[in-house]
This record gives sequence, C-alpha cells and structure tokens, in this order.
Amino acid sequence: APPHGRWQGPVRQPVRREAADQDKEYVGFATLPNQVHRKSVKKGFDFTLMVAGESGLGKSTLVNSLFLTDLYKDRKLLNAEERITQTVEITKHTVDIEEKGVKLKLTIVDTPGFGDAVNNTECWKSVADYIDQQFEQYFRDESGLNRKNIQDNRVHCCLYFISPFGHGLRPLDVEFMKALHEKVNIVPILAKADTLTPTEVKKKKFKIREEIQQYGIKIYQFPDCDSDEDEDFKQQDQELKDSIPFAVIGSNTVVEAKGKRVRGRLYPWGIVEVENSAHCDFVKLRNMLVRTHMQDLKDVTRETHYENYRAHCIQSMTRMVVKERNRKYGHTHRPVSHSPSLVLFIAWIRYLNTACIVTHIQT
Ligand code: GDP
Repeated sequence: APPHGRWQGPVRQPVRREAADQDKEYVGFATLPNQVHRKSVKKGFDFTLMVAGESGLGKSTLVNSLFLTDLYKDRKLLNAEERITQTVEITKHTVDIEEKGVKLKLTIVDTPGFGDAVNNTECWKSVADYIDQQFEQYFRDESGLNRKNIQDNRVHCCLYFISPFGHGLRPLDVEFMKALHEKVNIVPILAKADTLTPTEVKKKKFKIREEIQQYGIKIYQFPDCDSDEDEDFKQQDQELKDSIPFAVIGSNTVVEAKGKRVRGRLYPWGIVEVENSAHCDFVKLRNMLVRTHMQDLKDVTRETHYENYRAHCIQSMTRMVVKERNRKYGHTHRPVSHSPSLVLFIAWIRYLNTACIVTHIQT
C-alpha cells in the first residue's frame, strides 16, 4: 500500500475528468503535478548509498536484504595478513532495478578495509576524499559546456554501522562521523541486533544517541511533520525518530517460520525474522530509505552538503584570484577592477587548468 497515500504510482490521471472539469472554468494547471510525475517516471531515478563500518558487521548482508539483489557477487575477502598493509578501498556496485514501471539506478559505495588495519588513524580520510571527488566532478560538469547528460555520483546517504559488542561509540566511530557529517547524510546503524536482548538494544540505543549529542555529531535529521498531517502519520514519524540508531538484522537465507517462508536466521533456540518489527528495525530502515525519505536525502545532499562544497570552492577560487592580483600589482595599486562575476569566471578557467586563456583576458 502506498505510504500515507501520497505515492500514486506512474498512473495517468483519466483525461475524461479533465474534460468534465473544463465546464467549471477549469484552466488545467491542476494537472501540473501529474505532468511532473510522468516526466520524472520516464527519466528514471537514481540513488547512491554508502555503507561504512568495520568489516564483518553485516554491511553486505544488509544491503542484499534491503534491495533483494546480490550486489556482492565478485567480492574477495582478504585474510588478516593482507589486511595489515591494505588501505581503505572504495568500491562501487550499480544495479538497475524496476518496480511497477518505475526505474531506479541504485549505486552502493562500499568501503572495504575501513577500521581493519592495526593503526586506523585517519582511515576515514579516503572516504571523505571520495565524497569530495564526487562533488568536484559534479561542480565541473555543471559548469561545463554540455550539461545535458551529467552523471550524478554524489553520495546521498551513508549507513554507518556501529558494533553491537562495544559500550556505545568507539573513538573511530566518533572520528568518522565528525569528519563526514558536513559532507553526507549519516544514518547510524546498530549492527547484528540479534546478538543483543531487547533491554540491551534499548540501553545501547540510548547510550549511542547520548554520545552523538555529547560529541556534537550531526546525523541526518528527519524533516519535521507538517502540523496538518494525520495523527497516525505523526506517530509513525515520531517512532522513526526514536528508533535511531536503527537496530538491524541481515540475512541472505530464507527459512520457514510458522508455516511461512521468511528471510531470517535460524538458531538452535529459534528463528529471528529480518522483516519482523518485533525482532528488529529492518522494515523501519527500509521504509525510511526507500519509501518515505529517499527524495529528502537527495534534497539535503543537493541543498546543504553540495551547496557547502560549492560555496567553499567559489570562496577559495575568489581568494586565489585576489591573492594573485595583489602579488602582481601590489596592495595599493589596482589597475584592473573586474566585476565579481568576471573574477569568478577567470578563477573558474584557472581551475580548469587553462591559464593561457586568462592571460589573454587580462592583457
Ligand atoms: P561486512 O564485512 O560488513 O560486509 O559483513 P558481511 O555481510 O560479510 O557479514 C559478516 C558475517 O556476519 C557473515 O558470516 C554474516 O552471515 C554474518 N551476519 C550478517 N548480518 C548479520 C546479523 O544481522 N546478525 C548476525 N548474527 N550475523 C550476521
């Protein structure tokens, strides 16, 4: 069923009703949402999800369970000796999935090797660099000549896996989240929740939430509900906010529970079901990620994280031009007074490493 009755699917509204409405001086702009709808469905959607956290916490199992595909077919696991020298690698898997005529290009960015070495100081750096590189590529593309077929590889969300075996956050978790919280939407995950009792899950969640606040970590904030939303929706929204960090269980196997075939983990003492909300928050996480907040995650990436990157870039380009002008003509003598847009234009061309053109413009 569509969540909260909002998503109507790629269905055309019947034209007959439009004709009937025309009698009542109907102009027709009420069909605008449908027009946008049709166009975006035709174009298809894309989403880039990053998973991070030390290896063995169940990241690949969870991603496969989330999207019901095997995204890690050619995965090679390293032994302990190989991991000593290994630096953090960034790998990308893309799949095209389709559901009821809606196409989604899903990209999973994985970070194998993160937190696995003997010394993990600054091992978040290559992850941060990767995110910046995607912003830079997008910035270059949208400032270039052909803006028609820009590939958007910006990371929209990062699921950060926290070990269920520690007492709250480890120093590496704090360092990672603090280094990346201005660049990407971080959603904290309490991994392998089946290894904890319900009371332990509750306590651990509380401790992690407290530490997130204490260390000033800015995780992804769910948007506030509109005041005119119905009570059911408001309650669901509050439950979602209270679930942070999502306690999840992953499994790639189907088992039989109470006569039904379900995705779960079979233990000598019973079965844990991945999609049973009494057992874990898997369904809440999937609903949030796919059904209710995917677009908001993309909007926040574009409007906040990318905008920050872009502003920072433009500031440093302007500074670079001013510095060079001062170096060339001295602080007091100002022979050329370019308009701000020309200054930026020149900086941008420099940025693209075509300094010869700039020399032409200046002379
Ligand atoms: P990754 O290295 O973080 O991608 O972890 P994997 O997905 O490869 O999982 C590592 C091991 O943990 C495998 O043996 C999985 O079967 C197991 N595993 C994955 N998810 C869970 C879970 O939710 N609970 C438990 N108990 N084990 C899990």
